[in-house]
Amino acid sequence: MTEQVVIRKPDWAIDPAKMQSMADEDIDKKRKKLDEIAKTPLEKVSLQTLKDFEEVLGADDPLGYFLFIKHVSTNKEQRDAADEIEKDVRKFFNEIWGRKDLYDVIVQLEPEMESLEPEERTLLDKTIKEFRHRGAALDDDKRKEFLEIANNITVLQSDFGRVLNEITTTIPFTIEELEGVPPPVYENLEKEGNRYLCPLDYPVYFPVVNYAKNPETRKKMMIVSYQKGGKENSERLSDALALRERQSKLLGHSNFAEYVISRKMAKTPQRVIDFMNDLKERLTPLSEKENLRMRELKARELNTTLEDTKIELWDIFYYHEMLKKGKYAVDQNEVKEYFPASQVVEGVLEVYQTVLNLEFVEAEKPNIWHEDVREFKVIDKTNGQTLGVFYLDLYPRDGKFKHYAVWGLMDRRVKDGKAYLPMCAMVSNYEKPTKDKPSLLTHDDVETFFHEFGHLMHIICNRANYARFGLDGVLPDFIETPSMMFENWAWKEEVLSKLSGHYKDPKQKLPSELLKRMIDAKLLNVGTLQLRQVAYSLIDMFYHTERVDDTSEVFRRLFGEITGYEMLDEVRMDAGFGHFMNTGYTAGYYSYLWSKAYAEDVFTKFEENGFMNSKIGTEYRQKILAPGGSLDPDKMVKSFLGREMNNDAFMKSLGLDGK
Ligand SMILES: [Zn+2]
Repeated sequence: MTEQVVIRKPDWAIDPAKMQSMADEDIDKKRKKLDEIAKTPLEKVSLQTLKDFEEVLGADDPLGYFLFIKHVSTNKEQRDAADEIEKDVRKFFNEIWGRKDLYDVIVQLEPEMESLEPEERTLLDKTIKEFRHRGAALDDDKRKEFLEIANNITVLQSDFGRVLNEITTTIPFTIEELEGVPPPVYENLEKEGNRYLCPLDYPVYFPVVNYAKNPETRKKMMIVSYQKGGKENSERLSDALALRERQSKLLGHSNFAEYVISRKMAKTPQRVIDFMNDLKERLTPLSEKENLRMRELKARELNTTLEDTKIELWDIFYYHEMLKKGKYAVDQNEVKEYFPASQVVEGVLEVYQTVLNLEFVEAEKPNIWHEDVREFKVIDKTNGQTLGVFYLDLYPRDGKFKHYAVWGLMDRRVKDGKAYLPMCAMVSNYEKPTKDKPSLLTHDDVETFFHEFGHLMHIICNRANYARFGLDGVLPDFIETPSMMFENWAWKEEVLSKLSGHYKDPKQKLPSELLKRMIDAKLLNVGTLQLRQVAYSLIDMFYHTERVDDTSEVFRRLFGEITGYEMLDEVRMDAGFGHFMNTGYTAGYYSYLWSKAYAEDVFTKFEENGFMNSKIGTEYRQKILAPGGSLDPDKMVKSFLGREMNNDAFMKSLGLDGK
C-alpha cells in the first residue's frame, strides 16, 4: 500500500517584514501546546504524551526553512530577518529542553521503556537523554544558569557564522602577480586600475593558491583567507569555549568533550585522542618524505640548495599541483575540461538513481529562491512511493554561504497516517559559467559533489516516523559516513565516463589513460593532507578538554607541532573555522576521519558485489539510510556488512598498512 504523503511548499519570496511575526506566532503556538503537555497529571502520562511532545518539536514549518534563508537568500533583508529568527528559534529550543515541568512529565514513561516498540523506545530514550543533557534535570539555580549559557552560546554561534557568510573582502593582484593562474579564473573579475579584485570564494581562492608562480601572491591570498572572521570571531570562540566548559561542569562532567562525546559512537575523548595520535604516528613519516620531495622541487625551481629551502604553508598546494602535473602528468586544468557542470550534475544524478534504485523528477515549475536553483522530487523505484524533495543551488553569489553543505529544511515525520516528506538542499560554490565557457569542475569538485549528494540522500531516504530521527538525529560521528562512502564512485572509470564529456566535444570522455594517472596520484601527499585533518581534530579536542586563553595562539602552535608546518603569527584560522562553533561539530571535528573509517569499510561490500549494483544499493538504503537516527550506527553497519566493522579498508585508503 502506498503511503499518503504531504509535500510542503516554502514561500521563498516571503516579505521579510512578515517573517519575524510568523516565527513569533509559531513559537507562541508551540509554547502553548507545550504548556498543556506540561500540565498532564503525572498518572495520565502515556506514550501519546511523548508523541504529542515530539509532534510539537517536529512540526518545524515555517521555522525550518527560515533558518536556511539566512544562507542563500538574495535579499539582504530576508537574510537579516532570518538571522534574528535563528537566534530566537535556537533560544526557544534551549528553553524547551531546559524545562523541568516537561521533563518531569516525560520521565514518567521511563519505567515502561522496555515494553515499547523499538522506534518509540529509542524516541523515549533520546528524549529523556536530551532533557538531561540540556539541563532540565538540574536544580533550579543551575538549570537557570545552564539555560542562560545556552542562549549566550546561541548568539555567539549565529554571529560567528553570519560574519563569515557576509565577507566580501577582495585582494587586488596585477596580471603579473597572477602568473600561472589560468586566466578564466580572474579575467571576468572586477578591476581596480590594472589590478584584479580577487575574492576569497573557492573558485578563485584555490586556483590562486594552487597555481600562482609568485610565492608572495599565494602567501597573501592564504593569509587574508586565514584571517577571516577577525579578532571578533576569535573572541566569540573563546567566550563559547569558556561557556561550554561551565555547562559541562554543571552537568557533572570534567570537560565539554567528555560531555558531548559520551553520547556519540566514540564514547570518550580519550578514544578520539588515541585514534588521532595513532594516525598522527602513522602519517608523520609519510608527511616527512613528502616534504622532502616538495623541497627538492622548490630548490630546483628557485635554484637554491636543499638545505636553504623550506616548504611554507602556502607552498604545499602549489608544489602538490606541480608534482601531479610533472610526475603523474595530471593537470587539473586539463581534467576540468572534461567536467562541465551540467554533464557532471546529470551524471551524478544518474549514478545515484541507479545505485539506490530511485527516480528523480525535476519540477517543471520549480518553487525556488534564485533562478540558478533546481528542484527535484524523489521516487522509490521499488514501490513508486514519493520519498522527498531536494534542491540544488550550485554557484556562488554575494551573501550566499561560501562552502559546500547540505541543509535539511524539513524532516520526515508521520502524522495521522500521512507522511510529511523531507525537504533538503545542497549548496555549493562551483565556478560560474561565462559567455563562452560553461562552468567546469575540477575532479575534487566532482568528488565533493558525490559527497554532498550523499548527505541529500541520507535525508531523502529516511523512513523513520519521527522528525527526531532526521539527519540532525544521526550521531554526529556517523553523519559523514554515507557521504564519504559515495566519494569512492568519483574514482571509477565506468562512473567517470558517464559524467565526463569534453566541453568542446561532449563525446570525448575523460581518457582512461588520464584517469589511471589520476588514480596513481590519489595518494600523493596523503600524509601531509591527512595530518592537517588530524591537526584540526586534535586542536578541537584540546579546545574542549583544556583551558584555552588565546584560541589563535593555540591553533597556530598545535597546527605547527602536529603537521610540521608553521603558521604565521598574523593568522587566526580559529576565527574562520565554522566547525568549532557549529553544534554538530564542536568536540566533533574528529567525525570526518572517524566516519571515513566506517565509510571505507561499508564500501567494501559494493567493491565485492559491484558498485553499480542496485540490489546492494537498495539494501544499503534500507539498512543504513532509512533508519536515520533511530538505530545504533554500529548495529546498522554490522547488519549491512554481516560482520563487525574493522579499519583495514580505511588504512588502505590512506596508503597505510592495515592493523
Ligand atoms: Zn559532509
